[in-house]
This record gives sequence, C-alpha cells and structure tokens, in this order.
Amino acid sequence: MPEEADPLDRAVELFNTKFPDIRCPVCGHTDFGLAELAMAPLSAGRAIPMLPAICSKCGHILFFSAIALGLVPRATPQQPPDGATAGEVDVNRTQTSPG
Ligand SMILES: [Zn+2]
Repeated sequence: MPEEADPLDRAVELFNTKFPDIRCPVCGHTDFGLAELAMAPLSAGRAIPMLPAICSKCGHILFFSAIALGLVPRATPQQPPDGATAGEVDVNRTQTSPG
C-alpha cells in the first residue's frame, strides 16, 4: 500500500529544513509544533494561507506564508488589485454569491 503524503508531514519537513535553528522570540525555546494551515483574512475576501508554528514551551505562535514555504502554489492568474501584496490568494473564487 503506497504511502500518502500528509500535508502536515510535508510542512514539518519543510519547516525543519528551512529553519533548523529557529528559536521562540519570547522564551528562546527551540521546539515548535505545527498546526494545519490557517487563512489570514485580508480585505475584499482575500486571504493569505499561513503555517502556524507554536512554541511548545510558552505557546507563542509564529506564522509563515505557506506560499513562501512552497506548501501552497501561488494563485495569481490575474493582475492583483491595488494594495495587494505578494502571497495573497483569492478565497472567493470557490464561493458562490446568493442571488
Ligand atoms: Zn516560547
């Protein structure tokens, strides 16, 4: 039976590769747990997918762009509107508006 790639396993591997010496800015601890991707809402229905890294000692949470980490493909088929920054995705693309 083939192994299925767990997105969180991939996130852990990427996180450990990119940040082998990461320290919590609050308590200095070096052990982090990763949570499932979160969407940070922006204006106009847009959001940034983020990987939360939680300090296992004090609970401080660091957020990393899932796009910059390579966990989520950049979805910018159109020219971003004014004020948009790199790494945003449109979360309204899959929603239907009533009426
Ligand atoms: Zn900490």
